Amino acid sequence: MKSQPPEPGPDPAAPDTAAGGTGTRVTPPPLRALAGPVRGRLAIAVGLQAVAALAGVVPFIAVSRIAERLTGESPADGDALWPLVVLACSSGLVALVCGTAAGALAHIADNDLQLTLRRRLARHIGRLPLGRLTDRGTGEVKQAVQEDVSALHTLFAHTLLDVVAVLTAPVLALAYLLTVDWPLALVSVVPLLLGVFLFSRAMTGAAAQMAEFGAAVGRISVAAVEFASGIAVFKSFGRGHRAHERFVRATEGFAGFFSGWVRSTLVSSTAAILVVAPAVVLLLLSALGALFVTRDWMTGAELVPFLLLGPAVAAPMGVVGPRIQQIRAGQAAAVRITELLHAPTLPEPTDPAVPDGHHISMRGVSFTYDGRTDVLSGVDLDLAPGTVTALVGPSGSGKSTLASLLPRFHDVTAGTVTLGGVDLRDIPATELYRRVGFVLQDVRLLRASVADNIRLGRPDATDEEVERCARAARVHERITELPDGYATELGRTVTLSGGEAQRLSIARALLADAPVLVLDEATAYADPHSEALIQDALSALAAGRTLLVIAHRLSTVRSADRIVVLEDGRVTEQGGHDDLLAARGRYAALWEAQHTAGPFESDGTPHHRPATTGTGRAADDIREGSAR
Ligand code: ADP
Repeated sequence: MKSQPPEPGPDPAAPDTAAGGTGTRVTPPPLRALAGPVRGRLAIAVGLQAVAALAGVVPFIAVSRIAERLTGESPADGDALWPLVVLACSSGLVALVCGTAAGALAHIADNDLQLTLRRRLARHIGRLPLGRLTDRGTGEVKQAVQEDVSALHTLFAHTLLDVVAVLTAPVLALAYLLTVDWPLALVSVVPLLLGVFLFSRAMTGAAAQMAEFGAAVGRISVAAVEFASGIAVFKSFGRGHRAHERFVRATEGFAGFFSGWVRSTLVSSTAAILVVAPAVVLLLLSALGALFVTRDWMTGAELVPFLLLGPAVAAPMGVVGPRIQQIRAGQAAAVRITELLHAPTLPEPTDPAVPDGHHISMRGVSFTYDGRTDVLSGVDLDLAPGTVTALVGPSGSGKSTLASLLPRFHDVTAGTVTLGGVDLRDIPATELYRRVGFVLQDVRLLRASVADNIRLGRPDATDEEVERCARAARVHERITELPDGYATELGRTVTLSGGEAQRLSIARALLADAPVLVLDEATAYADPHSEALIQDALSALAAGRTLLVIAHRLSTVRSADRIVVLEDGRVTEQGGHDDLLAARGRYAALWEAQHTAGPFESDGTPHHRPATTGTGRAADDIREGSAR
């Protein structure tokens, strides 16, 4: 085999680092690893923010000193106080400048980090097997590229500096208060300690409660989707109230759980917030301070710094909760981004070869998704150029998996798939996709013009070519009805129906003109008219091509050159319709059971939609490609 093994850490900036000399690879925590490229700038921003926070305390100290000087036994004259005024103003200025600089630097660093991360993600996602992207949908990619990178922005550009500020300033404030009057300074720490104690009591069991919270919210979402999608059905049978029963139960369950949780933590969490509230701290310090002053344990002037700085000592507790949440969210985001960046890519051939012809041959093909259970085992199959092969078999027998191997959504675990005598893994991606196209049930259209959507496989196609394919795919008429015809942007104001989108994807495949085509037949069409149009479009597509169809229609199966029956990932029967019927095996049984019951369901279960018209006409169309 000429191809390289999958890369575990495909990105040059992958976060693995080698531990000095030992040869052991040490993986730093994902967050630190991702921040690597901007760590220097973030460190400077942290330093500046610390200076800003410390400088921000100095004016309060200066004001306290001024108060002390003015109320002392021999009050200072105005001129003697100028240095303190200058100190207060200049440190205020330093705080402002350093704080602004820290924020700006953190944002610039974070901006670069976002750009680098999004580029790395885009580059890496572009090299992932298509199967991975379709399996997990666009959700994972959107989550990483959008939400997770934004969570890192919150963490690096905001939370980090907030945490530095909120931890630094109280330290200096407390240090100063200790120099003024240590007993009262120690008292000022009491609200903080009490707050920490009460807060940790309130948070006891929070992890389990959060998990239950997530599960309860999940139950509401599921019930809401069911409610929204099922209401029409329930109502049409006069049972509208049934539709929302489960939804109401889910919301009541959530409300019960949530109020129980809130009740159990109400006292300690409210007490935690109260004891660190500035007004409460101020009250405590002034009451005790007054006592200290009346007892001559301290002077009135010495009380001033406590009133100015005391509330700051307990302040971190007030903001710690939300910051901890942001830090956790950032860590989770970093883990997800790192996982995606480490997902194995499709190996590109080291010694690329160009196929000679379009004969497809599978030999001893096995495949597993999880490394344990074989979804396909020992499949041998030949697809001769220009023939139609229908894949049938029970649901879960591996039809989609087998078909997905041709466009390299996944690579085989064992065995080989060759096209024109060359292993698929040795064909450069651009060459492969020029030869192998696919039309899947789940049509993905881009937020682009109709014409650009059709042009996807051949961006240089002329307008005439685009229109010719749209006509052949029976979607031209519909396009001309759109506000801007072929220039209409899809996904904004205009959304196509399922059947129209499918015809558009067929026009796309027609224009791309790949000689080999994998087709997952739609199991349900919107209406008979749409079905007839789609069958016409498919006929155009089938003409002269090698077609591998995951067949759900009786018509397709009957007219295929070869029918392949898959069961438990093995080919148990193959041959023409008549031969297989004569053999009286599994296919004959399926056929007997189904051919009177409506559309062919290759898994042997009745289709959820009633038989629609138009299938008969299409039967031989696919085979003969009459629309061309
Ligand atoms: P069919 O198309 O015949 O219904 P599939 O090829 O979709 O069968 O599935 C074959 C088996 O592989 C099933 O057991 C299914 O659960 C499993 N499977 C399919 N796709 C995935 C996937 N992306 N990850 C893990 N298992 C999968």
